[in-house]
Amino acid sequence: MTNLFNNLSISKKLQVVNLIIISLVTLLTTISLSLFLYGSLQDNYEKYSYTLAGLLAESANSAVVFNDQKVAAEILANLNKVTDVVHAEIYDRSGKPFAGYTRSGAAFKEALNVDPVKLPLGFQFGSLSMNIVQPMLSIASNQEKIGTIWLQMNLRPAYAQLSFQVAILLLLGALGFVLVAYLLNRMHGSITQPLISLANEMRKISRDEKYAAYVSGKNRDEIGELSGVFKIMVQEITKRESSLNDELKERRSIEAKLSKMANFDAVTNLPNRHSFNNQIDRALLNFKYEHERFALFFIDLDNFKFVNDTYGHQAGDLLLSTVAERLLGTLRSVDFVARLGGDEFVVLISNHTDISQINTVAEKIISILSKPFEVEMHELFIGASIGITICPDNGETSEILQSQADSAMYQAKNLGKNNFQYYQAELLHAQEHRLKVEAQLRRALERNEIVPFYQPIMDISSKKIAGFETLVRWIKTDGTMINPDDFIPLAEELGLIIDIGSFVMKAAAVQTEAWVAKFGAMFVAVNFSSRQFKLHHLASDVMKVLEDAGLAHQYFEMEITESVLMDNTSNSMDTIQQLSQNGISISIDDFGTGYSSLSYLTSFPVSKIKIDRSFVAKLPDDKNALAVVTAILGIADSLSLKVVAEGIETEEQLECLFALGCEYGQGYYFSKPVPATKAASLLARQLEAL
Ligand code: C2E
Ligand code: MG
Ligand code: MG
Repeated sequence: MTNLFNNLSISKKLQVVNLIIISLVTLLTTISLSLFLYGSLQDNYEKYSYTLAGLLAESANSAVVFNDQKVAAEILANLNKVTDVVHAEIYDRSGKPFAGYTRSGAAFKEALNVDPVKLPLGFQFGSLSMNIVQPMLSIASNQEKIGTIWLQMNLRPAYAQLSFQVAILLLLGALGFVLVAYLLNRMHGSITQPLISLANEMRKISRDEKYAAYVSGKNRDEIGELSGVFKIMVQEITKRESSLNDELKERRSIEAKLSKMANFDAVTNLPNRHSFNNQIDRALLNFKYEHERFALFFIDLDNFKFVNDTYGHQAGDLLLSTVAERLLGTLRSVDFVARLGGDEFVVLISNHTDISQINTVAEKIISILSKPFEVEMHELFIGASIGITICPDNGETSEILQSQADSAMYQAKNLGKNNFQYYQAELLHAQEHRLKVEAQLRRALERNEIVPFYQPIMDISSKKIAGFETLVRWIKTDGTMINPDDFIPLAEELGLIIDIGSFVMKAAAVQTEAWVAKFGAMFVAVNFSSRQFKLHHLASDVMKVLEDAGLAHQYFEMEITESVLMDNTSNSMDTIQQLSQNGISISIDDFGTGYSSLSYLTSFPVSKIKIDRSFVAKLPDDKNALAVVTAILGIADSLSLKVVAEGIETEEQLECLFALGCEYGQGYYFSKPVPATKAASLLARQLEAL
């Protein structure tokens, strides 16, 4: 009930309250007036009845005194003009009925026989008649009681009159109720209407969000005050709204910037790796539901590092954005291009996945990236290596496709750059194998699997061991022996050659010191790769090793290839100078196969050259080989360099070299590279032979 009331509008509530109040007021008024009417009726009736009884007593006084019943009866008979009287009875002094009157057709007869003294007198609530008893007094001075008059009054007419009055009252009450209700309603209207208008206006304002349009009401009462407060509130809201709008705008622009930063690459304005990952996920969903094939290109620029290192990062960035422009200009707008970072780009091509179409796209990319780039007044040539894989032919997940495109791209690089390659499963196997070998090689040194072998270098004229070349072997725990050509390039790539080189150098120095002590003077040649020359402390490292081993500097030789001498970027020149000044010999390995620029022979302190075995192998019959070997020996002679001929396998080769005046020889004809123990027994046998 309370809930029902609470849910009503204020106007309805007021109406309900008013109705209740008016009803109560009307009801109470009607009841009180009715009671008042009833009371005055009773009062008036009693007074009137007693007056009537008094008049009768006076009139009938002498009749009673003179005991004239007839006169008394006549007097009473006059009562027929007074309609209210039903019975009248006069009793004498002794209480006996003296004269009586009963209105014809009247009720209440039963009361006649009742002793009037015992009757209930006066107005009785609920009774339709009223009994009045009036003593009759003597008119003499003693006023003695001579009789009694009893009147029985009919109250029906009085009640009928009362009912009529009450009915009028009720009617007036009802009219009053309606009038008051109507007037109050009008008054409520004047209270609630401004409230309703206020509410409607607020609703409209908040719906249309036109806060500035609010005009406050003109009432001076509380509603006017409320309306004024609303105006202030609306102004406040308008202010906040506009500052919120500004804030929102700023936030949106920050969000847009953040989203751009999160999804785009700042250098090229292309989508970044994050976007690419989303895009490939979308392409995979398209494939899943629409069977839409797509091709993934991994593009790696060739020679970008060179541009960056030589011309600086700014030039590099300019180049990258030009690459992006060219890619966008070449591809269809539906194709997706992103920069993954560095010089790596990706392209996703959907719905255009025939091999011939993909070939065309790849060729186009290769062609536009091969054209010269104009960057900061430089004309730069780069190029690109592209790896391609196709969903679903090769894979159906983002990781697999990306790793496939990546390995295909490496394959393109290995095949001489500036070309494109499709992913082939074998590539992955080769890569897996490489990863396995890599992991094993990283642990090979700790596990003592790297072992130095020694191949004798003979003095050709005396046929005696003049020294050894240290040639490293990787002997795995299962006994398989891996030759350096199969792991040195990988070790160089991984940087492991530094540790391997250092280990071999130490082992060779310690070993040779022991042999020199036991078998007399001999040299040991150790191979050094160009990577080791990038170490600034190589010279001091070598000398420290020799010092620790106690090996005299003149017994130690470093074999380096021509490429080490030609590499201007490394500090090889300083290192070689320093080592040479400390009495360490430098010999040029594989002479004749490299740059064959003879100038370095004079500019570097080289003391020995080793003729590559490719020439020796063709001796003595091949005229060209013979000419090269003769020429090398001639140059060496004129520059006072010692010469070792590598790869002597036959007696004829040896004789030829001997005849040409070559001082030292090395090859299977004398001995293959052997473990230290075997090398020691070769030295021991030679000692015995003396
Ligand atoms: P290299 O320094 O030119 O070594 C000579 C290579 O010729 C050795 O191959 C040797 O076994 C091989 N050889 C010697 N005589 C004959 C012969 O009569 N016939 C034929 N067919 N081959 C002969 P190996 O031991 O396989 O080494 C290959 C290359 O690996 C070496 O060429 C050298 O460049 C590199 N290497 C070996 N050990 C090391 C090392 O400790 N450090 C570095 N950086 N490179 C090394
Ligand atoms: Mg060598
Ligand atoms: Mg060699």
